Amino acid sequence: MSSLSFLVDSPQDAKFRAEVSTWMAENLPEDLRGWSTRPPREMIQPWHFKLYERGWIAPHWPKEYGGMEASISEQLILQEELSRAGAPILSRQALGHIGPILMHHGTDAQKKGHLPQMLSGEVMWCQGYSEPSSGSDLASLKTRGEVNGDEIVINGQKIWTTGGHFADWMYALVRTNPDAPKKQGGISMVLIDLKTPGITIRPIMTIADDEEFAEVFFDDVRVPITNLVGDLNDGWSVAKALLASERIGNANPQMALQCLDKLQRVAKATGAVNDPVFQDKVTQLELDVLAQSAVFAHAVQQAKAGMDIGAGSSFMKIVATENIQRIADLMFEAAGGHAADVEPMDTEEGPVDVSVLWREVRRITIYAGSSEIQRNITAKRVLGLP
Ligand SMILES: Cc1cc2nc3c(=O)[nH]c(=O)nc-3n(C[C@H](O)[C@H](O)[C@H](O)COP(=O)(O)OP(=O)(O)OC[C@H]3O[C@@H](n4cnc5c(N)ncnc54)[C@H](O)[C@@H]3O)c2cc1C
Repeated sequence: MSSLSFLVDSPQDAKFRAEVSTWMAENLPEDLRGWSTRPPREMIQPWHFKLYERGWIAPHWPKEYGGMEASISEQLILQEELSRAGAPILSRQALGHIGPILMHHGTDAQKKGHLPQMLSGEVMWCQGYSEPSSGSDLASLKTRGEVNGDEIVINGQKIWTTGGHFADWMYALVRTNPDAPKKQGGISMVLIDLKTPGITIRPIMTIADDEEFAEVFFDDVRVPITNLVGDLNDGWSVAKALLASERIGNANPQMALQCLDKLQRVAKATGAVNDPVFQDKVTQLELDVLAQSAVFAHAVQQAKAGMDIGAGSSFMKIVATENIQRIADLMFEAAGGHAADVEPMDTEEGPVDVSVLWREVRRITIYAGSSEIQRNITAKRVLGLP
């Protein structure tokens, strides 16, 4: 298993690592190990409950809100041991995105009403940003949120909503002022209970043969105005903060480490591991993931200190997602004739779903803002190009 070995464990960290590793070995169910796609709610939720009961579900959350408030090294050790055990990657929508946003922008009632159930995993969340004609140009979104007394009436459609068909609640961007001089100025963020009448959710099948996301239709959906996050028409500034933290989340090395592990297993099984040219390529990838882990650790540290990573998150997202695609491409090469098999390939350390993984990772350079958009942001805001 590859490792984030730029860190040398202190005696205290070594103890924590041993504790996590033993616990994972004893508690992670066999049928949840090694998933390339997202396991369905009925499988992932019990795992969330277990991590919650153990106190390891939200290492980055402050203790004030029930989190672990873990040190950077503890957070990375948890990532590494989760990867080593082949644990599925939990949805980041609640713990990684809207939870932290509510801590900063939510009302007391929103914090009390939602944060505990995000932690416990009883309530699952999804993100309603993208629309059929508003992805990269998100600020052009059209889903209407009309204020009517103490309610907001929502009409329109969201699409590519990850886990929309498994979720209980959505945090969404809606247009509350269509006449605002700047299109960003007429958008609000709102929390929507997906059981509210007028909502239709249809799952969408992906090329990896899983139902990763859904389209969600709103037909006169009435939401209390107290579900606004931040001020009316100020949703864009809330959303921008969220997008930066989402990109940092995407630079989390857990997935890259799991892919490297699968690559090694496949290479051993086919003998590709004995080819020095192949070994050279693997070493380069390992070094790149190590560098990614170091940058990720630094960003987590900055975020913890309340610093704004801003446009740097775009560069992190590009590097992290392209690393994973490069690993998947090399695994495809190493698998030889097995690469095209729909069924997982047998290896000494268990089956590896080569083809599913390769197809699965096509999407990662699209979500949370495509690589082209991240390059535009980096060019403008980091390099100062026109
Ligand atoms: C697996 C997956 C999960 C997702 N989950 C969610 C979710 O949970 N919630 C949610 O709201 N959305 C989600 N999305 C949607 C995602 O955010 C959008 O797909 C993404 O922002 C791109 O928008 P689009 O699909 O409309 O493509 P478009 O914006 O139409 O872009 C099409 C192509 O044109 C390129 N392009 C567009 N504009 C420019 C430009 N100015 N310069 C250079 N190139 C450009 C893009 O890079 C892309 O290659 C998800 C997407 C995927 C693939």
